[in-house]
Amino acid sequence: MGQEDVYEKVARLIENSKKTVVLTGAGISTESGIPDFRSPGTGLWEKMDPMEALSTRVLYNDPKKFYNNGFKILLSMKDAKPNKSHYILAQLEQDGFISSVITQNIDNLHQKAGSKKVYEVHGQTRTGSCTNCGTVVPIDLLEVKVSKGEIPPKCDKCNGILRPDVVMFGDQMPEDFEKAWLEAEDSDLMIVIGSSLTVSPVNFLPRLSKHLVIINKSETPEDRRADAIIRESAGEALSKIVRYLKAAQQG
Ligand SMILES: [Zn+2]
Repeated sequence: MGQEDVYEKVARLIENSKKTVVLTGAGISTESGIPDFRSPGTGLWEKMDPMEALSTRVLYNDPKKFYNNGFKILLSMKDAKPNKSHYILAQLEQDGFISSVITQNIDNLHQKAGSKKVYEVHGQTRTGSCTNCGTVVPIDLLEVKVSKGEIPPKCDKCNGILRPDVVMFGDQMPEDFEKAWLEAEDSDLMIVIGSSLTVSPVNFLPRLSKHLVIINKSETPEDRRADAIIRESAGEALSKIVRYLKAAQQG
């Protein structure tokens, strides 16, 4: 089968699926300038180990280190802009081709692009919350407090410690993960985009769907059970698939 045929095949899988969910990883956001968490040695990650910088151990035992390192990385995502892939997925949801997006990313780019149903299985960088009373605050409040030297930042209501609502190494999975699990179980087709499926437990989700498409530049442990594999950047692959979908709609 020629490489050109695979896009048509994926388009057909999408058209024949009663419910399609998309699972995205860091690979979809690298085109927006956000470094891959698990690819140390690039940009922001050069000087630190992300597994350590964004861990509950450092957050709770060495808050100064956390707020000087990991927290700055979280804030650096605030100004990132969605790329072509994010916009295509938002449009596919609007056109009824996909049901939802499950994302391992914490950069808010699916929502910025217009996606409505997004499950953020590793949390997000819009808010923080009090570890004592649970009050949710904008992440900007944590930023202001930290910039004034209040480390760790404290809750205005109960003086408990505020933390970002990002799932860090050592944290439990959030409620969105359970919802994503049900969504995957209920789906006919899952399209994995830009994830190497090496991070547990999210990497189990593709096994819950009846059919599987993988768009990722490198191999994944689920490749052998995929109906189609595209080794390309998310933007290029999605643009080509969408062309076939449009052709089908017009025909
Ligand atoms: Zn509180």
